[in-house]
Amino acid sequence: MNLSDAILEALVSTLPAEGFKPLHEPCFEGREWEYVKECLDTGWVSTAGKFVDRFESMLQEFTGARRAVAVVNGTAALHAALALAGVEAGDEVVMPALTFVATANAVAYIGATPHFVDCEESSLSMNSESLAARLEAVAEIRDGACVNKETGRRISAVVPMHAFGHAADLDGLLDICGRYGLVMVEDSAESLGSYYRGRHTGLFGLMGILSFNGNKTVTTGGGGAILTNDEALADRAKHVTTTAKLPHKWEYVHDRVGFNYRLPNINAALGCAQMEVLPDFLARKRRLAEAYARAFDAVNGVRFVTEPEGRRSNYWLNALLLDEDLADLRDEVLEKTNAAGVMTRPAWTLMHRLAMYQDCPRGDLSVSESLERRLINIPSGPKLHG
Ligand SMILES: *Cc1c(COP(=O)(O)O)cnc(C)c1O
Repeated sequence: MNLSDAILEALVSTLPAEGFKPLHEPCFEGREWEYVKECLDTGWVSTAGKFVDRFESMLQEFTGARRAVAVVNGTAALHAALALAGVEAGDEVVMPALTFVATANAVAYIGATPHFVDCEESSLSMNSESLAARLEAVAEIRDGACVNKETGRRISAVVPMHAFGHAADLDGLLDICGRYGLVMVEDSAESLGSYYRGRHTGLFGLMGILSFNGNKTVTTGGGGAILTNDEALADRAKHVTTTAKLPHKWEYVHDRVGFNYRLPNINAALGCAQMEVLPDFLARKRRLAEAYARAFDAVNGVRFVTEPEGRRSNYWLNALLLDEDLADLRDEVLEKTNAAGVMTRPAWTLMHRLAMYQDCPRGDLSVSESLERRLINIPSGPKLHG
């Protein structure tokens, strides 16, 4: 049997027999209707209401973050977090080339420049050795600031992203950030329910962010959150994401240029119902990943990506990696599986290949480029496994 037939067979044998198998569809089996109806019945659908506070408390309880600030989407969370972390126009922000475009866009919104480094094959996430090598090559400390000698720009932050829910090497990355005086903000949009040495992702840097888009592990329709253990920073995050309005009985006084990024109550209502079933979703997704691991163990030429040593993954989007010498077969696999009703997708186009980021500074990206050629995402939603 050829490779694409063997992959399709392994997928079909693992997934439910009937129906189209999407990559990650939302699953509403809890109290979603009840909570959303309550918003409509009471009129509390928009910028105020109890579900926002409740959703934030649930996020805090689940992740262990001292504070969670709910916002309209993950991109907005990252934009606000980077601004709060002190990233300014003209700075550079280091991030993996293998990420969803939102990571780079949030940096560009500030007027800063993304600077790309490589990822590790085990976690598909930012490689601390690539970060160290790149900084070693281009960075120097001038008057206490980390500066890129080649561009003259300040490097102010590092944004690792936990790809498909596999935690990056956070100890290694934090160590390097410490050496160069760089602040770390984690793009943990994909890693709700993923842990590094027992602690939830998003809590290692100054801030982390989550996304509740429709294809993420839990959804609020659209939504996001900033996580932090710094109370004062959380207060500022709440303030700047709610138009920076000073509390007053009737006057509209705003003390800086704020963002209208607050999560509407109706979306938070959906989020509360989803958080109630998150542990069940994670358990089902883990069982699906275990079933995939067994099915693909027997298929030569392809590896099912599993959680790295010492890290616990949420298996947000499961991924296959074709052997390097079989990368040419990727499109055939994509064609055959999608034609059979099993949705599969290649990795994101690497950031430095996108027109708006092609001239950004970057280090060696050979692992990212190899992964881009060989990676295939496969169906991963909680509905696919009991
Ligand atoms: C989903 C995602 C985001 C945020 O997406 P939104 O759609 O704005 O919520 C950011 N970064 C990564 C890596 C993501 O996967």
